[in-house]
Amino acid sequence: MPAPWLDCTVLHGAGLSAEMLILDGAHLVLPDRVLSPGRLVIDGDRISEIGPGSDGGALAGLWIVPGFIDVHVHGLHGDDVLDGPGQVATIARRLPRYGCTSFAPTTFACPPDALEMLAQSVEEAIGAPTLDSARVLPAHLESNFMSSDYRGAQPLEQLCLPPGAPAADAVPGTAIDFTGDDILRVVTAHRRAIGTMTLAPELPEALPLIRALTSQGIRVSLGHSGATLDHARAGIEAGARQATHLFNRMPALTHRAPGLVGAVLDDDRVAVELVCDGYHVHPVVMRMAIRAKRPDRVMAITDGLAGAGLPVGSRFLLGGRGATVQEHACVLDDGTLAGSRLTMDRVFANLVTLVGVTPLDAATMTATVPARELGLTDRGKLAGGLLADLVLLDDAFCVRQTIIGGHIAYAHDVPR
Ligand SMILES: [Zn+2]
Repeated sequence: MPAPWLDCTVLHGAGLSAEMLILDGAHLVLPDRVLSPGRLVIDGDRISEIGPGSDGGALAGLWIVPGFIDVHVHGLHGDDVLDGPGQVATIARRLPRYGCTSFAPTTFACPPDALEMLAQSVEEAIGAPTLDSARVLPAHLESNFMSSDYRGAQPLEQLCLPPGAPAADAVPGTAIDFTGDDILRVVTAHRRAIGTMTLAPELPEALPLIRALTSQGIRVSLGHSGATLDHARAGIEAGARQATHLFNRMPALTHRAPGLVGAVLDDDRVAVELVCDGYHVHPVVMRMAIRAKRPDRVMAITDGLAGAGLPVGSRFLLGGRGATVQEHACVLDDGTLAGSRLTMDRVFANLVTLVGVTPLDAATMTATVPARELGLTDRGKLAGGLLADLVLLDDAFCVRQTIIGGHIAYAHDVPR
């Protein structure tokens, strides 16, 4: 039920098949402008009407933005999507409190049986959506096909070469119990559960793999890679259309060696992920990247680990390895930066307050672009006829309510 402060109007009957919800007086962040005060009407699971609202309406001072879509999230509140069956659904239930209404469960490099488990969990969660949960999207695999030199916190023993690559090219210490063919068998068997695969285009036989994946409708994202400009451009020509956590786990751009960073900043066909905690990428560099790509080609992500949403000092396991939540990020016990402790509400707030973009541009990067890139034509912006997936934020961009499909999935003042 709505929180008392919301004071929204709920109408029944009058020939309506479902409940109507009228949100009046807030700043509505529309695709091309902020309408303030605005009025948004939800009929059933869809936005039915958007127009001018009342001065001093019930929601005056609040922002209404499209529900956040996180294309790169590993875990939350101590749990990782790879921890076991049911974890995807558990994490989906927790995400609405952070304004996240759709998410792609994201894996670390893992063996085929773990991938199989994850794919089944994703299929089950997609097949049985629940009212209070974020919508589960096909998974994003930070795959086995990455550069050992740029693996970061990814486990060396889980890396392998693309199918067809000579075994002699394998880096010592990488997988011995399975091959790239074993990984692809799982992917092919669970095609609808897999949406995106991160890989390094410079690996032997990576380009045929990119072509094979994209021909199956799997989106390829370039990352965890030491690619040169030429390698990266070859990957893009083969069909890659995304870059994974731009700047992190890839060579730095310099004026004579643009590398993977330069290749994707220079090519409008490619959308880039950006971890928005202000630590993974300095706010000045975030701002430069957003200017280079324009908000229209940036997907703001959390790259959140199981430590996300936990207090500083919390301990958790990452693939059996100990990790700690630190002030700036999550760090393995050996000191390796492992991922963020971000949630999508903080991503939005950081974009506005740290980077200095407008709320409209922040909504573009947290919802509109991820929806469009993943082909989700029914969401990602506030517009009539689209799914009523939206977030009400206060003036500090903290979540007051999250509405998914017209249903109030989270309300700040209602204990759960
Ligand atoms: Zn990564």
